[in-house]
Formats: sequence, C-alpha cells, structure tokens
Amino acid sequence: MRTETKNISTEGRHVSPNFITEIIDGDLQQGRSPKVVTRFPPEPNGYLHIGHAKSIALNFGLALDYRGECNLRFDDTNPETESLEYVEAIKRDVQWLGFQWTRECYASDYFERLFECAVQLIREGAAYVDSLSEEEIGTYRGTITEPGRPSPYRDRSVTENLDLFARMRKGEFPSGAHVLRAKIDLRSPNMKLRDPVLYRIVHAPHYRTGNAWCIYPLYDFAHPLSDAIESISHSICTLEFENNRAIYDWLLENLRGKCGLPASPRPYQYEFARLNLDYTILSKRKLIKLVDDGHVKGWDDPRMPTIAGLRRRGVTPEAIREFANRIGVAKANSRVDIATFESAIRDNLNYRAPRVLAVLRPMKVVLTNFAEQTVEELQAPYWPHDVPNEGSRAVPFSRELYIERDDFLEHPPKGFYRLIPGGRVRLRHAYVIRCDDIVKDAAGNLVELRCTYDPATLGRPPAGGPVKGTIHWVSAHHGVRAEMRLYDRLFSVADPEAGAGDVSGSLNPGSLTVVEGYVEPSVLHDPPELRYQFERLGYFWRDPVDANPQRLVFNRIVSLRDSWAKREGRGSV
Ligand code: ATP
Ligand code: MG
Repeated sequence: MRTETKNISTEGRHVSPNFITEIIDGDLQQGRSPKVVTRFPPEPNGYLHIGHAKSIALNFGLALDYRGECNLRFDDTNPETESLEYVEAIKRDVQWLGFQWTRECYASDYFERLFECAVQLIREGAAYVDSLSEEEIGTYRGTITEPGRPSPYRDRSVTENLDLFARMRKGEFPSGAHVLRAKIDLRSPNMKLRDPVLYRIVHAPHYRTGNAWCIYPLYDFAHPLSDAIESISHSICTLEFENNRAIYDWLLENLRGKCGLPASPRPYQYEFARLNLDYTILSKRKLIKLVDDGHVKGWDDPRMPTIAGLRRRGVTPEAIREFANRIGVAKANSRVDIATFESAIRDNLNYRAPRVLAVLRPMKVVLTNFAEQTVEELQAPYWPHDVPNEGSRAVPFSRELYIERDDFLEHPPKGFYRLIPGGRVRLRHAYVIRCDDIVKDAAGNLVELRCTYDPATLGRPPAGGPVKGTIHWVSAHHGVRAEMRLYDRLFSVADPEAGAGDVSGSLNPGSLTVVEGYVEPSVLHDPPELRYQFERLGYFWRDPVDANPQRLVFNRIVSLRDSWAKREGRGSV
C-alpha cells in the first residue's frame, strides 16, 4: 500500500521577484502603503480557468510574502449572467489551489454605498443622466482621430439629474432608457475618458440582492470604489484594463474622503500580462459555449482548462502553482507553450507518483516453458533510482501475460528494440523472453505470441548477450481490467481564437481516446486518490467521478514526454 510522498515545493517566496514586487518594495520603504492588501476579483459568471490561477497565485502569493491580506471579491454587478453555483465553484477552486482569503466580499454588498458615491458625483456636477441610446452614445463618442461631441443631455441641471437618477433607481424607466455618465473629457485621446457610463438600468433579479435594484454599476465604477472600501493597496489586473486606469484614478481622486471612503492611502491599479496558453482558450464566455453546445462533458471535463477540469484530470494544485511561478509576471502579453505547463505537471508527479505496470492495448503472450497454474511473486520497487523514495510491491508473474500491442512488430524497421519474431526483450522487473512463434486468426490478425522465458535472467544479464529493449507487461490472469481515458489537446491549432469563426471549428476530434486495458493488481489496495506513473505510458489516476471499486477508470494526467513530438516520429510508446 502506497501513500503519496510530500512534494518538493517552492521554498520561501510564493511569488518570484517581478515588476510588481519592485513597486511594492518601493511603496513599503517609502511608507506609501502601511500594509499590502490585494484582492482576487472574479465575476461569478463561469468557472475559473488556468488563467485565473495565474492571478490567484499572484494576489494571494503577494499577501503571503508581505504578511498582508488578500480578499476574495465577487465582482457581481451583471445580474443576467451571475449565479450562486459559480460563487460556490470559485470558492472551492481557490481553496483547492491552496489559498485562503482574508475576507469574502461581494460588490453587490456595496450597492448602497456605490449609489451614494454616484449621487455625490451628480451633486458636484461630475456626472449626468444621459438619455441617448447605447448606439447614439457610441456615435457621439467620436473616434481616435475625431473628438467626441457632447450629448444634448450633458448640461442637465444637478436637480434634474438627481431627480432622474432617483427615479431610475425606483424603477420608473425601462431597461436601457437612461444611463448615468461621468462628465470627464470628450476630447481626451483616451477614449475611455470620454464620459464613461457608470450606471445602467437592468430589470433583472440579482442572485443576491433579488429585486432590490434595477440599476447596476458598471465595472469601471464598481471596481475602484470596491477597492477603496476594502482598503486595497495594490489592485492588480490584466493589461486590457490599462486605459481604464485613468477612470480608476479620476474616480478615486474625486471621491476619496467622501461617502465614507478613506482619504488616504488610496488604492492604485497595476496591469500585468494575462496568460494565453497554446491549444486552448481562456475566456469564460467561450468556455461556457463549449459546455452548452456539448463539445465537452461539462465544466469539469478533464480536457477543459478550467481548475475543475484539471483537478478531475489529476493535475495537482502544487503543479499549477509551480507553473504560475515558472511563467512569471510580465508587462507584455505573450503566448505560453503548453509544454511548459506539462513539464511543471511531470516534474511534480515524478516525485509523488509510484511506478506500476499497466497495458493500454493488450497483446497476449504465452510463455510455453512456464508451468501452468504456477504464479511467481516478483518484488518490484515503486521508484526509479533517481527518486529518493522507498517501497516495493509483489507483482504476479505467470504463463500468460499481456504486453503492449505496439511493443511487437512482425516486420520491424531498423532500430526497433522491442519484441520481434525470433528476438528477445526484457520484461520490466522480470525475465528476458524470446518470441518463438506467432499465432494469427483466419483473417490474418495477430492473436498471440508464443515465447519462452529465460529463468536465469531475473536481475541478471542473459547469457546470450545483452538485450536492448525493456517493455512493460501485466499477468493476464491477475491483471485488473480498466477503462483508460487518454486525453489530448482540446484544439488542434495553437491559437484557436486567431481566426474569425467559431472556435468549435478548431476542436481536436482526437482529444479523447478510450481503451480497455489492464493494470497490475497491487493498485486495488491503494487509496483511490493515489497518482501513478504507468511505466512508459504516462501519469494516471482514477477518475474521481466515474471510477468505483467494481469498475476501474483511469485518466491519463499527462504523457511521459511531449506527445506531439511522437507524431513527428520521435518517442516510443
Ligand atoms: P473571462 O474572459 O475568462 O471571463 P475575466 O477577466 O472576465 O475573464 P474575471 O472573473 O472578471 O474574468 O477575472 C477575475 C480576475 O482574473 C481578473 O483580475 C482578471 O484580470 C484575472 N484573469 C482572467 N483571465 C486571466 C488570464 N488569462 N490570465 C491572468 N489573469 C486573468
Ligand atoms: Mg470579467
């Protein structure tokens, strides 16, 4: 019976030094921030993905490294797309990744405060109710080369604006009839500053506030004010929000010290590069479509880049944190090769996954010189020499075995070191065998290999000269049948979002292969959550949803080497 050994994890700092840690170091030295307070602000409109894990590792990691705080804030200002199911899933995923928030916060808890802030801006003449349609607002805003034009409603009096805004809240107008806009600068080269919309009317129930509100703040309004309410020191977001920083600063400079917001210190926004990972997509909106259109079996389908999918596949939280650390935090967007993620997964599993024997596509081998009804219990170590772990198990060896179908070739090319007619090979942890004969059915299909084993070769070199190949095997009578789910990349192109069309056109039709294989019987005594290396095949664990004591189902977490190199003719099994 095996239990997992402790993984070697990044000692010391959670976040490697980067431009944000430099900013924080400066702020702390010069007394600009008394304490580091960050937040992770997901919108509960879907499940978290590996891109979010980068932001989680950064925000929670900084709080740990600087003995600060990190809040989990649900940015729940769009009633039509958000739900409690997503809130629960997000909490589960953040905790599974190994992080604990200081406070659990909801933008929707601040709706009354945010409304007061909006009223304050109206009183100061810094916001107005606009009655243009969304399309008209777009036209009036101008272009990068042309300045915007003022809306005919821009000069409404404070009294009229206060009255209209109060009536918007009361529900006197239909959705979309009016919006509240900040009065900033219609000539600004930063389009975001051309009187951004702060509030809109949406007659839809909210999963937390029910029907209490029919006006909802926009991200640009809710986000900086929520940060200020929570005394966030460093508000870290992705690069697409670079131009929104001007609104962030404008609002906080106008409202600091008012409506109960602290005057100082105030939060500042910093942008870092979002994670783009090859052969997958990292957008909740598009991932929802894959689920809704049935291209995958759910948010936790092991092919999905979601945290729930990776967890079910068998990827460890340590591997995800290590990956986040390896890719680092930069100011410029780039794409990350999926091989970087896979090598972080392998490096983690190498030290925690005992090696056992399994066969994916079985080929029967009969050892004609091994006595029938006899079983030999061979002792096999769980670990290779370079992994400093101990332990071994007994592996039954008998007259009939299964080897991997690919490990035998009747007409081998040059340099094929596995089993061939008349050739010899070593069975892992066991004997050298020679293939004497092959048996085919009437249709010419290979059904059985008739071999002899050399009893003098257990742990010893064979007398007839060295053999070049070692292959895996399972005793036919003792092996346990198991469904093996082999996963491949979800998309067949590196950047599925590059084209104009629907991403589903680029899905990899071979992203899931299911085979019936065999695994050595020792696994029946192991805890179900144990991860293994099936020698020469990859890292596997039991599917936590579909496997049960009567039915073994294994997910391949990752192959042993870059599976796409194999397609170019390199690699073995
Ligand atoms: P999506 O397009 O997937 O819905 P989002 O940015 O709208 O992404 P949010 O739930 O609003 O998702 O994001 C929560 C936090 O996670 C934000 O701070 C956001 O910047 C960050 N984040 C989202 N996607 C990535 C990514 N690919 N890489 C790094 N951080 C990300
Ligand atoms: Mg968002």
